[in-house]
Amino acid sequence: MSKPIKTMGEQFNRRSWAEPWKIKMVEPIALIPREERQQALREAGYNTFLLKSADVYIDLLTDSGTSAMSDRQWSGMMLGDEAYAGSVNFYHLEETVREVYGYSYLVPTHQGRGAEHLISKAEISAGQLVPGNMYFTTTRLHQEMAGGTFVDVIIDEAHDTESEHPFKGNVDIDKLEALIREHGAEKIAYISLAGTVNMAGGQPVSMANVKALRQLCDRHGIKLYLDATRMVENCYFIQQREEGYADKPIAEILKEFCSYTDGAWMSGKKDHLVNIGGWVAVNDADLFDRLRNMVVIYEGLHTYGGLAGRDMEAMAIGIRESLQDAYVRARVGQVAYLGTLLTNWDIPIVRPVGGHAVFLDARKFYPHLDQEVFPAQTLAAELYLDSGIRSMERGIVSAGRDPETGQHRHPKLELTRLTIPRRVYTEAHMDVVAEAVKAVYENAHKARGLRMVYEPKYLRFFQARFEMID
Ligand SMILES: *Cc1c(COP(=O)(O)O)cnc(C)c1O
Repeated sequence: MSKPIKTMGEQFNRRSWAEPWKIKMVEPIALIPREERQQALREAGYNTFLLKSADVYIDLLTDSGTSAMSDRQWSGMMLGDEAYAGSVNFYHLEETVREVYGYSYLVPTHQGRGAEHLISKAEISAGQLVPGNMYFTTTRLHQEMAGGTFVDVIIDEAHDTESEHPFKGNVDIDKLEALIREHGAEKIAYISLAGTVNMAGGQPVSMANVKALRQLCDRHGIKLYLDATRMVENCYFIQQREEGYADKPIAEILKEFCSYTDGAWMSGKKDHLVNIGGWVAVNDADLFDRLRNMVVIYEGLHTYGGLAGRDMEAMAIGIRESLQDAYVRARVGQVAYLGTLLTNWDIPIVRPVGGHAVFLDARKFYPHLDQEVFPAQTLAAELYLDSGIRSMERGIVSAGRDPETGQHRHPKLELTRLTIPRRVYTEAHMDVVAEAVKAVYENAHKARGLRMVYEPKYLRFFQARFEMID
């Protein structure tokens, strides 16, 4: 059954490959015994978000805030100007975002959802629609809390784990036009476009698609805002897959992409290689004024937005590092390496492999389990039990309930995410992960699923608790 494993070298068409950094400081990790893992999992209500980090061996819960900072970023931490107002580090960050992303005005926030909160409140009126390329948990919740209704207008291929479409993150322009025709442009708050679409498996949006969106938005007078959280990784896929971009540096592709949008919000905890931080940046002076006023209520003064000066400095430096082509290739390449190992063993994953994570197709692991017994949550629990590897559910639990009917939403994708932190693990860790997934796959027929015994009202996946069905 098994095909030979392709090395990284073969995949990139050369003999060998290595990360463009070396390790200066290490953090020991250990695998606790199986009985202790069993107990830890029970105490965590079979929710990997409720596990203690000390009980985890390889932590692939998220790539959010889990990056390893560079020696330069750590040096930058010592340059923190902790003035309440007008910190030097704010101006460094502002100048960097302007130069790299091209937007005129910047408001810092403590992390991505702080930025989502501000832009949703500023730009959505009650009853408006917010079309976007597949929902993201915190993004949609802030849009709903501002009175909007998210409408998914991603292409159909995004919902098919086997489609090899190179840009499964694209907006379906026909679906969007039909929506505008049906409701009128006034009813649309803005288009909510995300790069490297998380819930679709880390799938990119093409340059052609954002250009077409810009034209459509201009025709109808609609704003186009970007969730730029993983845009750097998105740009790598444009460079690799889209005609005319092979010789362009990531930095140039990023700036062109952003030039078709009216503004962006950002979770710096992803692309920017920092442990905390975010921002919202726009071109419209009036909107900026409103955002800058609101940030004072919810985050902090507009020159720190909930961040320490040192955090803004580390983020400004991280932005530059994130644009280096060798770094992005190593980052996305490591994800591809894990994906290739699993594909070679015929383990069902979302294809093509995305930019920040490998997504296991839990429906195919457990064809005998109903979605109501939470297959992807079950898979995350089994993987931890097998080898102390922490992953995350991205299926029916994450999708939450419909605010109108109160029923579970039933997403087509029932996935378990193995998210790769940036610059943290080596290829040897990926080998260990692949073997663990294989072991869980081989025992999948024994799984019976989970029963939810506690459900919080908002973003339930973070804190819900489960019991094993026996
Ligand atoms: C993480 C994330 C957010 C929210 O950012 P936080 O920093 O976690 O608050 C928004 N959008 C996307 C696509 C994300 O991955």
